[in-house]
Amino acid sequence: MVTIIGGGIAGTVLAGALGREQIPVEVYESQPSVGAGAFLVLDDRAHVALTGLGVPAERLRRVAHSVDALRVEYLPGPARTAPSRGHRLYLRSELMRVLHEFAAVSPAIFHYGTPITDLDIAAGVLFSGPARLTADDVIVAADGIDSVARRGLEPERTPQYAGQVVFYGRTEQPLRLRTDHSVLHFDGRIGTDGRPAGAFGHLWDDELSVWFARVTRPPLPLRDIGFHPAEQWAELIRTVAPGIVDVVERLLADTETVHVSNARNVPVTAARPPVLPVVLCGDADHAITPAEGVGARDAIEDAAAIHHALSTGSTPVEAMAQRRRQIAAERERVVPPYRRIGSPVGD
Ligand SMILES: Cc1cc2nc3c(=O)[nH]c(=O)nc-3n(C[C@H](O)[C@H](O)[C@H](O)COP(=O)(O)OP(=O)(O)OC[C@H]3O[C@@H](n4cnc5c(N)ncnc54)[C@H](O)[C@@H]3O)c2cc1C
Repeated sequence: MVTIIGGGIAGTVLAGALGREQIPVEVYESQPSVGAGAFLVLDDRAHVALTGLGVPAERLRRVAHSVDALRVEYLPGPARTAPSRGHRLYLRSELMRVLHEFAAVSPAIFHYGTPITDLDIAAGVLFSGPARLTADDVIVAADGIDSVARRGLEPERTPQYAGQVVFYGRTEQPLRLRTDHSVLHFDGRIGTDGRPAGAFGHLWDDELSVWFARVTRPPLPLRDIGFHPAEQWAELIRTVAPGIVDVVERLLADTETVHVSNARNVPVTAARPPVLPVVLCGDADHAITPAEGVGARDAIEDAAAIHHALSTGSTPVEAMAQRRRQIAAERERVVPPYRRIGSPVGD
């Protein structure tokens, strides 16, 4: 029996894939339903992992928005364009709908509105408030960046501010803009220190127009996090991309609310080796700033690695230890995003 804490991207797809192999699995998710929020971009690796787990490629394609190319222009530097590497953009609600459908036709059991508030790690017991939930041989903690499981296992490994405040918006109606259709655009300017002072990204097609802004500055207090009127942050957002002021203006004018967050990382190099019964998965183990645009891809690949281990009788502990080595090596090689073009939502 496998217990999963968190029914987000990783928890849902893992539960569906295990359930479809008749491996008993139960998921505890704190929210009554999952899927609200902004949009995200997945690359070819994420799609290979999702379809390898059994998520129908056709269902994904139907809700995805094509990303034909990535175009970056940080003034005063030149503009560069590169073809996309299988990138597609999803509204989070649409991606979660496809993952829910996938899991719903499996015997996996989901308990929504059931936050895990504490764990007795040695005994493998979970608590939701006063309720004691017996967990079993394996507990997969896919409970996101503020993981209650990581707090118990590795209290010293806390999320760290990644230096940018992030705004995500979607216009009320699809807009036709002067920029290229179905291209993920990144605009900004290089500051006096040779680094981007921020970035503005956008993509539009016949069905939607979405945008994000990243501003390098101290973190915002909790009261400013979450959904807020776009108007409240418009002045700050306008400063980010002087080369496309008219585009930013049109997008802002048609956006009612923005999602505001402090970009955060969970450091992975100092992680303690995983020990059963609990393995951390996805953001719970190695969240990375949205600027890198790979957090969901990494979470999905974790789910695939844990699924492979559990369905072949090997240990998920070794699978996740191997994933951490891979992720740490990939993050080590990361080139500053403003010098490369490959980052789907990076700056
Ligand atoms: C604004 C923004 C934009 C992003 N854009 C991209 C992108 O373009 N591409 C990309 O690859 N990544 C992107 N990411 C990162 C990506 O969203 C995460 O890496 C991904 O969601 C991680 O998946 P997960 O399943 O590990 O965690 P989550 O999706 O966060 O799911 C965790 C789940 O656990 C639940 N939970 C939390 N605590 C408990 C508890 N105590 N008990 C029970 N349930 C609990 C939560 O409610 C949630 O449903 C972005 C992130 C942000 C914030």
